[in-house]
Amino acid sequence: MTSPSPVVRTSGRELLEALAGHLPADRIVADPAVLAGLAHDEAEWAPVGMAAVAVRARSETEVQAVVRVAAELGAPVVPRGAGTGLSGGANAVDGCIVLDLSRMTAVLDIDAENLVCVVQPGIVNNDLKAVLAEQGLWYPPDPASAPWSTIGGNVATNAGGLCCLKYGVTRDYVLGLRAVMGGPAGYGTVVGIGRRTTKGVAGYDLAGLMVGSEGTLGVITEVTLRLRPALVGTPHTVVGAFGTLVAAGHAVAKVTRRGLTPSALELLDRTCLRAVQEWKHLGIEADATALLLARVDTPGDAGVAEARALAESFEAAGALWAAQSTDAIEAEALFEARRLAYPALERLGPVLTEDVCVPRSKVPEMLAVIETIAARHDVTLATIAHAGDGNLHPLLLVPPGDDVARRRAQLAFEELLDAAIGFGGTVTAEHGVGLLKKGGLLRELDPGSLLMQRAIKSALDPDNLFNPGKIF
Ligand SMILES: Cc1cc2nc3c(=O)[nH]c(=O)nc-3n(C[C@H](O)[C@H](O)[C@H](O)COP(=O)(O)OP(=O)(O)OC[C@H]3O[C@@H](n4cnc5c(N)ncnc54)[C@H](O)[C@@H]3O)c2cc1C
Repeated sequence: MTSPSPVVRTSGRELLEALAGHLPADRIVADPAVLAGLAHDEAEWAPVGMAAVAVRARSETEVQAVVRVAAELGAPVVPRGAGTGLSGGANAVDGCIVLDLSRMTAVLDIDAENLVCVVQPGIVNNDLKAVLAEQGLWYPPDPASAPWSTIGGNVATNAGGLCCLKYGVTRDYVLGLRAVMGGPAGYGTVVGIGRRTTKGVAGYDLAGLMVGSEGTLGVITEVTLRLRPALVGTPHTVVGAFGTLVAAGHAVAKVTRRGLTPSALELLDRTCLRAVQEWKHLGIEADATALLLARVDTPGDAGVAEARALAESFEAAGALWAAQSTDAIEAEALFEARRLAYPALERLGPVLTEDVCVPRSKVPEMLAVIETIAARHDVTLATIAHAGDGNLHPLLLVPPGDDVARRRAQLAFEELLDAAIGFGGTVTAEHGVGLLKKGGLLRELDPGSLLMQRAIKSALDPDNLFNPGKIF
């Protein structure tokens, strides 16, 4: 069952006129070429509808005005940050207002005493990190898209990243937020949700509910984030080269079993390394089938011991070699390669991106199944992974314009979701359901849980105006 599409009761012209009555002219985008650029995210082959108009809001009041007009005229609202999503979550639906939050970039408060900051949703993750670093503070969640993706988008997808293995995902840092909601509060009402204190259990965890809600419950206009003190010292980087993906998977399982806590444990296969090397010439040799990259930020002797134990674990799992990088530039180049792997592969043609997560002990088996499924469907495979979390991103590569290969990749995509569910895992660890994982979600969720989720959506958005057709 899919969520009903909203009945758009208005023409594009009527919508434009109504918005123009409440917003400065430069906020409104009607130019078809610009609108087309704002109408989709980075997901390959996710359906894109025809937006009626886009609004580049600059304040919470403007967001309220957009939502009120949308409710009055029955037009869907599709919130959007930077559009780096990989599930079609920010894709336009027919007749919608694309609500672009990327111009709301203010840092409203940095409370170093309490390790809290308050920001608008459009600030880019890395820009926030840079501002905080000046005050000796750190916001850990670090999706590989951190140079481009916004905090609002990160919150709406509950983004993960490289250091989330040790420091947690976006959810662990969201204390509170403000959002323009509908439902019981009335469309266009600003609601303060959550708290600013370290602890708090006053009522249901509505801030937690908004995290990962993919724009389907309301528009986030402000976020209160928990911070940490900036790390001190230089981290240790440990690299392991493996002859097979499965051997690298065994090393991940071993690291978990030994109770080691690297701040990152990432996997890159040869296809990814070669694509980055050919593009950026970082000086990386791409001979092994797979590399594991680990980072240890524990200070002092404990960190040295932990880095040594990681290298031993890699060797015990059958690494061709494992070594601590003594060269900071080389270490950074390797992590840069990890961050650039996705855009490097995208240059070669369409990429269908998986985002499955399995219990960490199951990583070797899941990696083996990934290879089997790709081979069965004759699909070219590249794999990157936040391997320490069990979060695997097999990337299915398709030659441009080859529709037969695309269909094979889409079949493989669905089989990979089923395999992850079969291992007790999930169809999406961090990219969200959006449009691409709707089928997988139905197969994964307990039926009762699905009913609860639908009930929440219809209670908070009875007119189905916020990002309709996504998730369900
Ligand atoms: C190269 C690359 C690497 C990536 N690496 C990672 C990674 O390591 N980890 C990870 O988790 N993801 C990763 N992603 C996916 C993507 O960057 C994340 O999902 C990110 O959080 C999206 O942020 P965005 O600002 O681009 O949001 P968008 O793509 O614009 O939107 C994402 C979703 O959030 C909703 N939304 C956006 N802003 C708001 C708001 N203010 N209020 C309500 N809803 C809103 C949208 O409707 C949509 O459903 C990667 C993507 C790329 C292209």
